Amino acid sequence: MPAVTAAPDLDARRAGLDRIAIVGASLAGLSAAEALREAGFEGAVTLVGAEAHLPYDRPPLSKQVLAGDRDGQSTALRIPERYDELKLDLLLGRAAARLDATAGTLELQSGESVGYDGLIIATGASPRTLPATPELDGIHTLRTLEDCLALRREFEAGPRVAVVGAGFIGAEVAAVARGRGLDVTVLEAAPVPLERAIGAAMGRVCAALHTAHGVDLRLGVAVEDFDGSARIERVRLGDGSSIEADVVVVGVGVDPNTAWLEGSGLVLDNGIVCDATCATNVPGIFAAGDVASWHNRQYGEQMRVEHWTNAVEQGRAAARNLLAGPLAAEPFSSVPYFWSNQYDTRIQFVGHARPDDEVRVAHGAVDDDRFVALYGRAGRLVAALGFNWARLVMGYRAKIAEGIGWDEALDGAASLE
Ligand SMILES: Cc1cc2nc3c(=O)[nH]c(=O)nc-3n(C[C@H](O)[C@H](O)[C@H](O)COP(=O)(O)OP(=O)(O)OC[C@H]3O[C@@H](n4cnc5c(N)ncnc54)[C@H](O)[C@@H]3O)c2cc1C
Repeated sequence: MPAVTAAPDLDARRAGLDRIAIVGASLAGLSAAEALREAGFEGAVTLVGAEAHLPYDRPPLSKQVLAGDRDGQSTALRIPERYDELKLDLLLGRAAARLDATAGTLELQSGESVGYDGLIIATGASPRTLPATPELDGIHTLRTLEDCLALRREFEAGPRVAVVGAGFIGAEVAAVARGRGLDVTVLEAAPVPLERAIGAAMGRVCAALHTAHGVDLRLGVAVEDFDGSARIERVRLGDGSSIEADVVVVGVGVDPNTAWLEGSGLVLDNGIVCDATCATNVPGIFAAGDVASWHNRQYGEQMRVEHWTNAVEQGRAAARNLLAGPLAAEPFSSVPYFWSNQYDTRIQFVGHARPDDEVRVAHGAVDDDRFVALYGRAGRLVAALGFNWARLVMGYRAKIAEGIGWDEALDGAASLE
């Protein structure tokens, strides 16, 4: 009997797909739009974005732009002509306020409505704030270009800086502030920074990097309150002590931007819940980037990843799968990757660590600020962290994807240098 091919003809699948809308005009949304055109989709593509800017890059906002080494404009992800080339209907400065998934329409805050046959949601995430934060000047979060420029202006006055949260954003802000010669205190609730992301041993290595550069790092402290009249003057801690500060940067994580989707029928649970192909529970609607929680077959887990590379790769995968249709859609399986620059140290991390993973420094030495640590679990290599050794870390991304064993990874390490 001849083999039965399940996948219908591509053009037939696309037949009902004339208008695709993408909500969120940033990295994942733009990547999706480009992938639609690369795949030959010639219908209308509408890109709706709450921010007034053309899509721009966020990593420099806690690095070169904050440091004053680059201007804000240099963060544009594409030159303006690229958007004409892509034939996008750009609706910028207009947030989507409501999704009617039955009618296939988006209502924008401006009152406009956008009809679609296929939809990709890439609305990213927003910084968390601490409960009962008072309205005082000098308290900042960092997500947008405006946030960055406001903080940069504050740094010019030579303030004492308190950073709440020793995650990657807090750590990068602290590093830039020290680079500008400012007094910096970092307040972290956990006994070890970044333990959930990279484990306790490597979290301690990151902590040491900051203390070596003159940061006053306070671990295991609870921020109770902020004092000041018009402007922040001090941060009060749970143990009764306080930290004098002219500027506070709160970096305590982000929440996915899903409030506008309440009641839409999409399943929401720490992001937009998707299957392995980035498809939501509503046919024809996909999600990608920081807002998407999808089933990553690489780890057999539902996860939401807040990294640059994921936004690009997942945005592209969601677009391809929307065009492919449910029978031909392919799982988006991924080994997460992120980088962070702190002082002169280029940190790279690939994989997905857990606090109880076995961790071994397999290349270089921690004391030399150049090493790669490997993470093993259940006989497999699951993650790798490097300081100033990007080439090696990226090689491990491919090995983790292939499912290399823990012993094999350790035995073969020396031959990779
Ligand atoms: C300061 C900073 C530094 C970073 N540094 C690194 C780094 O060094 N390495 C790394 O791997 N990652 C880094 N990241 C993370 C990386 O930038 C993000 O993972 C990436 O931006 C996610 O892209 P996204 O398109 O999914 O979401 P976002 O970039 O958050 O974009 C979402 C867009 O959707 C818009 N939007 C939200 N709601 C609506 C709505 N209802 N209607 C219309 N539009 C809406 C938002 O305004 C925003 O423009 C950094 C992030 C920040 C903030």
